[in-house]
Amino acid sequence: MSAATVSPMPVAGIPAARLPELLQAMPKAELHMHIEGSLEPELIFALAQRNGVALSYPSVEDLRKAYAFTDLQSFLDIYYAGASVLLKEDDFHDMAWAYLLKAQEDNIRHTELFFDPQTHTDRGVPFEVVIKGLSRACARAKTELGVSASLIMCFLRHLSEESAFETLQASLPYREHFIGVGLDSGERGNPPEKFARVFAKCRELGLHLVAHAGEEGPAAYIVDALDVLHAERIDHGVRCVEDPALVERLAKQGTALTVCPLSNIKLCVFDKMDAHNLGHLLEQGLKVTINSDDPAYFGGYLNQNFLETFEALDLDAQAAYTLARNSFEASFVSEADKARWIAELDDTFRRFAQ
Ligand SMILES: [Zn+2]
Repeated sequence: MSAATVSPMPVAGIPAARLPELLQAMPKAELHMHIEGSLEPELIFALAQRNGVALSYPSVEDLRKAYAFTDLQSFLDIYYAGASVLLKEDDFHDMAWAYLLKAQEDNIRHTELFFDPQTHTDRGVPFEVVIKGLSRACARAKTELGVSASLIMCFLRHLSEESAFETLQASLPYREHFIGVGLDSGERGNPPEKFARVFAKCRELGLHLVAHAGEEGPAAYIVDALDVLHAERIDHGVRCVEDPALVERLAKQGTALTVCPLSNIKLCVFDKMDAHNLGHLLEQGLKVTINSDDPAYFGGYLNQNFLETFEALDLDAQAAYTLARNSFEASFVSEADKARWIAELDDTFRRFAQ
């Protein structure tokens, strides 16, 4: 299916002045969100107090001030420090629940949440504690918030493939609690090939496969994520434009890119929002989605990403429809769920066009 074949919707007639309201109201899916990246400084402090963990920042304000990153690594240093307050099942539940409440506010119907077990198991927190806390929050969200949430387990690429295999082994008793695996953390110097065997094993197990590629790493990492890891979606992927043949291939295959605009600005992948290539990627017929990545650290949740991107790039209602529809089409839900949410999306646009 080509990414360009989005059915024509009656977006004509939606006044530009109503676009911000539409962006917030439209139903959408979020496919690139690291649950540990939703930890707000206030919650970090509350959990530190609850668990008796000493933080190297004297106050919430001091911690927030430290969120001035220069690149991916400077962010990751603070990110792992923040995660150190997560020790018990309730901590993981409370972190996920705080995000899921925001998801409901942003009219997110479905979210596929990344989690990094190695960040916790390496600190002595059992895998079971992590997955039970997170999946309890996901189950509650469905019944209490009307938000569908699934988990994708990520391997940290700065660690070894052997460590990824150990994580996979630890996860198998909880196989029903997650739908796939991903690859995240520092991209430079950690090419997809490093994880070829563990991804092959996950493929055999019938897990969905995604991978971060082409954020700070070169376009060649995207090619390898597709050919070596068999990734079904590319997380970020904005550097695909450096390889025209790859852009053509991604468009033809309809491979989704989970783009994270505020993250890209905060980590200096682009200097400023009006220099972001998201509009260009859409014009190339790529199946682009908008996501928040690590919203507590990057200055905004999903709707904030939509609002700032549309304002800076002067995008229109057609782009809004395409992006929201892509988010459902690229998700790992049943065809019936996709159809139901896309019908709701269509209704929302018709209402705004009146
Ligand atoms: Zn990410």
